[in-house]
Amino acid sequence: MREPTIFELSSPGRTGVTFPTSDVPAYALPDASLLRAELPLPELAEVDVVRHYMHLSRYNYSVDEGFYPLGSCTMKYNPKINEDTCRLPGFVFSHPLQPIETVQGNLALLFEMQEWLKEISGFNEVTLQPAAGAHGEFCGVLMMRAYHKARGDAKRIKMLIPDAAHGTNPASAGMLGMEVVTIPSDAHGNVDLVALKAACDDTVVGMMLTNPNTLGLFDQNIVEVVRLVRDCGGLMYGDGANLNALLGIVRPGDLGFDVMHFNLHKTFAVPHGGGGPGSGPVGVSERLAEFLPSPLIGIVEEAEEDTPPLYGYITPKQTIGRMKAFHGHFGAIVRSYTYIAMHGPQGLKDVSQYAVLNANYLMARLKTYYKVPFDRICMHEFVMEGRFEGTDIRALDISKRLMDYKFHPPTNYFPLIVHEALMIEPTETENKQTLDAFVDALVSIANEAHTNPDIIKTAPHDTPFGRMDEVKAARELVLCCWLPENLED
Ligand SMILES: *Cc1c(COP(=O)(O)O)cnc(C)c1O
Repeated sequence: MREPTIFELSSPGRTGVTFPTSDVPAYALPDASLLRAELPLPELAEVDVVRHYMHLSRYNYSVDEGFYPLGSCTMKYNPKINEDTCRLPGFVFSHPLQPIETVQGNLALLFEMQEWLKEISGFNEVTLQPAAGAHGEFCGVLMMRAYHKARGDAKRIKMLIPDAAHGTNPASAGMLGMEVVTIPSDAHGNVDLVALKAACDDTVVGMMLTNPNTLGLFDQNIVEVVRLVRDCGGLMYGDGANLNALLGIVRPGDLGFDVMHFNLHKTFAVPHGGGGPGSGPVGVSERLAEFLPSPLIGIVEEAEEDTPPLYGYITPKQTIGRMKAFHGHFGAIVRSYTYIAMHGPQGLKDVSQYAVLNANYLMARLKTYYKVPFDRICMHEFVMEGRFEGTDIRALDISKRLMDYKFHPPTNYFPLIVHEALMIEPTETENKQTLDAFVDALVSIANEAHTNPDIIKTAPHDTPFGRMDEVKAARELVLCCWLPENLED
C-alpha cells in the first residue's frame, strides 16, 4: 500500500501558519496575466505536516544511522561541528553582492581554502566555483580545450579515458564535442601501457584518469602513464573523487597532473546523496592557471603594519569565464574548511591511512567467501564479485539481502569491467566491531546462497517496502508524484 500524499491529507480551512500584522504599505497585485487563477496548495495543521515528514524520514537510511559502504561515493561520517560553523550568523546573513569591505571574513575563508587545497594537492591554483565533481570535470576539460586553442593547436580532439572510469568522465569530454578513446585495463588493474602508447598522438587533448582507480587500485605505472600523455603534447586530468586514499601521502600535482577536481562532499565531509549540495573545486598546474574561471579570491591590497590584507576578486588573464553564480556552494565550503581545520595535516594523513586499512581488512576477511578479481593491496575501497558457483544469485540480490541485516548495500555493477561488481568503501571512521558485523552478514549471505537461496532472491524482507523495480524509476521518472493527476495506486 502506498503512503497518502500531503495533498490527500489536506482538509480545506486547516492552516499551519500565523501571519503577523502587516507593518508595510499594501501594494497592488501585478498584472492579472502574471497571476494564476488557481493554486491548489495543501491545507494542513503544523502537527500534520511534522508527522507526515517525520514518518517518511524513517524510511530513509543514512550514515548517521549505520554503516554505508557505498564504493566511490565516500559516504563518510559528517562531524556535527561542520553544521555549527556553516550556520554562524555572520555567514548565513551575508550576501555575495555586499561590498567586499563588509565580507572580509567570508573572503578570507575562501582564500585560505584555496591555499589549503593547493597544499593538499600540489597544484598551483584552485577555483572553488564548480558545484560538484561532474561540474568540476566540465570546468577542467574547458580549460584543457582553451589551453590547446590558445597555442593554435586546433587538431586535438581525442580524450583518452580508461575503461574503469566513472561515467561522468566520458560525459564531460563528450559534452565538449571531444572524441572519447577508451583505454583498457591490464591484468593487474592498471592502465594498459601498450594500448595507451598506441593511442598517444598529436590529436590527443589529454587523458582523464582516476587514481586510485574505481577498482580501488593505485596505478603502479602512474609515472609512465603521465610521461606518455605529456610526451604527445596532451594534458593529464585527475578525477579526484578517490582523494580519500591519498591525503598527506601523495599529491597529484607532484605526479605531473595538470588539473584535478576535488569532491568536497566526499573527501572533506559534506552531507551528500540527497543530503545537500556538493562542491567540486578544481586545482591546476602553472600551464592552466591563466584559464581558470573568474573570479578567484585573492589579496587585492597587501597587509600593512597594523591593517590586515584586503581580500577581493581576481580575474585570470585568459579565463574561461564563470562556472557558477557567485562563489560556488559557500555552505559546503565552510563545512569542508572546518573539517580540514579540525584535522590538521597529521589528522588528514590519519584519515587516509585508516580508510585504506579498513578497506584492506574487509578485503582480507571477505576474499575466502567472495571472488576478488584483483587480489593485491587495495586503497580505500575494493571490488569483489557478487556471485557464487552453481547458483543464480546476483550482486543485486546480495545487496537487497544486506538490507535485512541493516546495512546499506555497496555500489552495484560499477566498475563495468568486473562481473557482478560489488564495490565496497568502508571509510576511516568505522570501528572494528562494525567492520566485523558487516563481514559476518556477508558470510552469512554466502552460506544462504547454498542453503536457502530463495531468501536472498526475494529480499529485502525487513524494510518498509519490498523489492523495487530498479528500472522503472529511471525510465518513467515522475518528479511531481505528489500531484493528484500523477498518483497511482
Ligand atoms: C562521485 C564521482 C564522480 C562525480 O562526482 P559528483 O560530485 O557526484 O558529480 C566522478 N568520478 C568518480 C570516480 C566518482 O566517484
